[in-house]
Amino acid sequence: MSGAADATPEPGTGATAAGADEGTGRARPLDFIRKQVVADGEAGTFGGRVQTRFPPEPNGFLHIGHAKSVCLNFGVAAEHGGICRLRFDDTNPAGEDAAYARGIAEDIAWLGFDPGVPLHTSEYFEQLYEWAEHLVVQGLAYVDDQDAETISAGRGDFTTPGVASPWRDRSPTENLALLRDMRAGRFGDGEKVLRARIDMTHPNMLMRDPVMYRIRHAGHFRAGDAWCIYPTYDWAHGQSDAIEGVTHSLCTLEFEGNRQLYDWYLDKLPLPGDRPRQTEFARLNLTHTVMSKRALGALIDGGLVDGWDDPRLPTLRGLRRRGYPPEAIRAFCAHIGVARVNGTHEIELLESFVRTHHNRFAQRRMAVLRPLEVVIDNWPGGHVECRRAPNNPENPADGTREVPFSGRLWIERDDFMIDPPRKFYRLAPGREVRLRAGYFLRCDDTETGPDGEVLRLRCSYDPTTGGGQAPDGRKVRATIHWVSADHAADATVALYDRLFGDPVPGADGRDPLESYNPDSRELITAAKIEPGLLETPPGSVVQFERLGYFARDTAPGEQPLFHRTVGLRDEWANIQKRRGQGA
Ligand code: ATP
Ligand code: MG
Repeated sequence: MSGAADATPEPGTGATAAGADEGTGRARPLDFIRKQVVADGEAGTFGGRVQTRFPPEPNGFLHIGHAKSVCLNFGVAAEHGGICRLRFDDTNPAGEDAAYARGIAEDIAWLGFDPGVPLHTSEYFEQLYEWAEHLVVQGLAYVDDQDAETISAGRGDFTTPGVASPWRDRSPTENLALLRDMRAGRFGDGEKVLRARIDMTHPNMLMRDPVMYRIRHAGHFRAGDAWCIYPTYDWAHGQSDAIEGVTHSLCTLEFEGNRQLYDWYLDKLPLPGDRPRQTEFARLNLTHTVMSKRALGALIDGGLVDGWDDPRLPTLRGLRRRGYPPEAIRAFCAHIGVARVNGTHEIELLESFVRTHHNRFAQRRMAVLRPLEVVIDNWPGGHVECRRAPNNPENPADGTREVPFSGRLWIERDDFMIDPPRKFYRLAPGREVRLRAGYFLRCDDTETGPDGEVLRLRCSYDPTTGGGQAPDGRKVRATIHWVSADHAADATVALYDRLFGDPVPGADGRDPLESYNPDSRELITAAKIEPGLLETPPGSVVQFERLGYFARDTAPGEQPLFHRTVGLRDEWANIQKRRGQGA
């Protein structure tokens, strides 16, 4: 694992969220998988070796759920001087693509792990086929002529035993000939399958003669037209693990029932080495979003988001574009840990890791999203002054920068009220505020349009307050941000809300799209930014003072585009507080 030795503090605790792997010296208790790996090492199981794999299907890009699995698999291997390989589980030609495979490797590297040279299940198609013939010869697999529906109905259910296929007792010789004909392309899609011959009354439905091969006359993105029969997940997975020398095959809980089948196949085959062991852990779910590649693909195909890298998606490329740093994602994964109980984590918790990171590292800048013009009537005509502003008060070593100040400014429309209610301490007629890194500013008058809307503020400044305080000791109750109207650059700013209104979209069997939020993105095309922001490198994140953290988009455009990564308010702390109060 490269460069993962950060120590982003856990929100609200001031402690480090990094796991034992992050080298911070504060080890967190080992999770059940890591305990097992340690115990295996002590017992000399697998000859003391540790080898894991991360096995995505290249039918989409990675999401943050995958990040949990990446951190676990690469993390466990690294902690034990072992090996973790990226293996594309490319057993289903439909929907798989080399572009997804390349993107997945990129996503892993971005997250901070070395994907190395990826392996592919399709590299083992020949070996898998040989092993299939081996099972046929042993009388442990047979060719079934029934169609998919009949096979499924014949399996029975939890209370009904399955019924044997009329083809179940074909002789090994006949089966072998038929399997070779299947491979040679003599049958159409769905005409025949190869099934393992296990037990049609087995209490585990997956053991009721599972399908090993189906016929698909379809090109494969790597294997081309070499094959027209493709292995199922179950027939491919354990064998691929065994071929590679995987010791600990870590997968999510929905595969718990598949473990028996995983073991059955491996027990029946002449394996090259130790038998790998499958262990299941809980999937990561987050509130207000969906997490499967299929559901994400549906959002994209339906035009509800712009693509896999839409900043509203929980995909790694979406989060990257949104300004989520890989360090924060790793720290979040370390914090939530690995358990055997499925649950859903609040998205606010993830956001708090992102905020904590940027609070430490992001440069401060000023930008005005909804500009209101201020004219300073007592400012010397045409004069421009360079004000010094700290780049990051959390990190004085980041130094200061110059921000041009002149007699015409933009301030945030929200920072002015013509008739302020109690507790509104910002600008109002006759009211004085402090300008960040500037002077005290008083609103003397307003210019209004025909509908009474405020067009412009006429103000005066106090030249003695350039140090941030008034020498006569008078106080102001608010500090607001600004940009010089004569120097500001224009920018487009995207603000984001939850992609789904419901905390758990699709709960109770509803269609997740019912709670899709059509207002999840608000585009502001006329924001005003301090001129230095034009130099902010694409892909980097800055704090717009008082507004949140914003990531500069990498795409070249007429004017810079910034995505709001996350706001400044710690919503996670509020959730914790409400819980503490028993709400
Ligand atoms: P999806 O439904 O999003 O396609 P999948 O389960 O089919 O996900 P793959 O890409 O085939 O995922 O699998 C890659 C690995 O990532 C698997 O080992 C899988 O268990 C794991 N994984 C996928 N989603 C999650 C998640 N939400 N939390 C933890 N691990 C996950
Ligand atoms: Mg999948």
